[in-house]
Amino acid sequence: MKTRLTAVIMLVGFFLLSASVQAQVFDYRLVPPELAADFQKGVKLLEQGQANEGFSQFEQALTLAWRYQIQELPAYSSELIRLGTRLTLSDENRRRLLDLSLYFSPHSSEMALARARFFFSAGHFSFSSSLAELKRGINLLGYDLPARVRLQARLWRASAEFLMVWLIILSVLIILRYFRVLLHWSGHLLPESYRNLNLPLLLFIGLIPVYIGGALWPILVWPGILCLPFARKSLRIIFLVLLLVSGLAGLCREKTRQMIFPLTTGPVLSQYHVSLGLAGQPDLENLRKAAESSNSPGVLLSLAEAEHRVGDDKRSEELLILAIGEPAASTLAYNQLFCLYLVTGRPEQAISALEKAAQGKEQYAEVYFNLSQAYNNASKYDQSDSVYKKASQLSDETASRLVLAKKLLGQTQFLLKIPVPAGLILSESEGKIAPASALLEGKYQFLFFIIALCLMLVAGRGQKTRVCYYCGSIICPSCLPESRSPGICNPCYQVFIAGKSVDPKLRIEQKGKVRNYHRLTGILGVVLSLVVPGTGLILEEKVLAGLLLSVFPVGFLGYFLAGSYVPAPLLPVTVVFPAWMIIGLGIYALLSLVSVLLYLILARVEA
Ligand SMILES: [Zn+2]
Ligand SMILES: [Zn+2]
Repeated sequence: MKTRLTAVIMLVGFFLLSASVQAQVFDYRLVPPELAADFQKGVKLLEQGQANEGFSQFEQALTLAWRYQIQELPAYSSELIRLGTRLTLSDENRRRLLDLSLYFSPHSSEMALARARFFFSAGHFSFSSSLAELKRGINLLGYDLPARVRLQARLWRASAEFLMVWLIILSVLIILRYFRVLLHWSGHLLPESYRNLNLPLLLFIGLIPVYIGGALWPILVWPGILCLPFARKSLRIIFLVLLLVSGLAGLCREKTRQMIFPLTTGPVLSQYHVSLGLAGQPDLENLRKAAESSNSPGVLLSLAEAEHRVGDDKRSEELLILAIGEPAASTLAYNQLFCLYLVTGRPEQAISALEKAAQGKEQYAEVYFNLSQAYNNASKYDQSDSVYKKASQLSDETASRLVLAKKLLGQTQFLLKIPVPAGLILSESEGKIAPASALLEGKYQFLFFIIALCLMLVAGRGQKTRVCYYCGSIICPSCLPESRSPGICNPCYQVFIAGKSVDPKLRIEQKGKVRNYHRLTGILGVVLSLVVPGTGLILEEKVLAGLLLSVFPVGFLGYFLAGSYVPAPLLPVTVVFPAWMIIGLGIYALLSLVSVLLYLILARVEA
């Protein structure tokens, strides 16, 4: 009964998951079943402590992957890294496991980052290894299409969230500090006998976005705009600028949508499948159709590979010769052409293609390794050695992969392919957003900006109603006059600044007021500083210091929020980027503490 229940729950969970993750790019339909079986057997053996048997199963799986010319299997790499975390293994075996994870997906940025994190965790800590993998991960972002797209899309979305979160936070702070002042000021506008209506009337106006069913941001920002004329000049300017700039948030969101979409369908997805070495018939048809209308280097290279796989080497050659004409693709095309010439028995042409590839601007270890093997076949041993040395300098990981591949496959040569960089695959899919539609996306923010500007001209100019910095009383031309010092009420000025011959009764009274006021705002300020560093200072009108301190925390919040809008890990087993957010969380906590300390120092009032 219990197992059946678990099965039902898992099944429901699986369906929910697969419904939410629309962009399920990775598709292992094409992975030969015996490869998967070998790998699974290896996992089981390793779990049972039979390390050597387990590793030989993994090597069998790897051999099959290479024989089928599968380039990348990130899910397998991820499983190996997880095994390394879960099981207690000898140092040597753990090393072997991680090396295998590299061979199963040599160009996956996300897997390199996962290994970097592995070396960063307690029990496996090695700073140099972690740093090396981190470097590899960042370098490989150019090849790892889903990782790159997801990171970029998330950064775009995070910029949108950053702007909106900052706008909302500033608005809430303005409301917290100045709503009282607005209430006092508007009270004077009403005739004496209607004064009771003041608060309901203000609430009615302030809640307008709620009645018309506005989103969260207008509900929180609109009352902020109403209170803005009473804020300090620097805060007014910053809020207005932010309001204007936040109109671009819509553009950033649109950008995210545009980036994610091609990953879910069409030629981009097919090119990606080809780069994994897992392209099926639908991918071939997709690419053939795309090549009819465009000469995108990514499409040409991918289609050439796919045509070669289905046996049409002539068409493949035509496409590669076309691709050579595209500067961004020529080195890759030459390398691919080399592989084609070699398997079709044209070694002379193969060598000349590779020599051209080696002259390219970009240096690929794969090209030099291939050239070294080609020279070796042609009995040009000296040339072979010198090129091999150069190749090993470029990437010793590729050298050991090559050695293992030759050994496992029992061959004297192993052709190394270079995946098509993500930039080439995406070059034609990134749509342009017309300026007009970009502006339309932010129409409500711009409307709010214009209203706020008008309000500032009507009510903000020469506004004398404000909060006394010392006692928190409302300074108002008809109730409590401002002293010579701006922002300080007359009694406070007499007691705390002019000093000396002051009525002792007034002194005690003002001191009591100041103490009560700051006890209240102090608690609020500390809590705010803890939750979002910097906000406590903004509340106390230390605007610049507060803003500087809040840049990272608000950015972090933005990045965090953006995660829910960017389709979750395209590969369900890997959640690498969020894991790195722990470091961000640490910085956030540190800034919280700094912010509280700064608040206590800067916002203190000598009384
Ligand atoms: Zn005062
Ligand atoms: Zn008044």
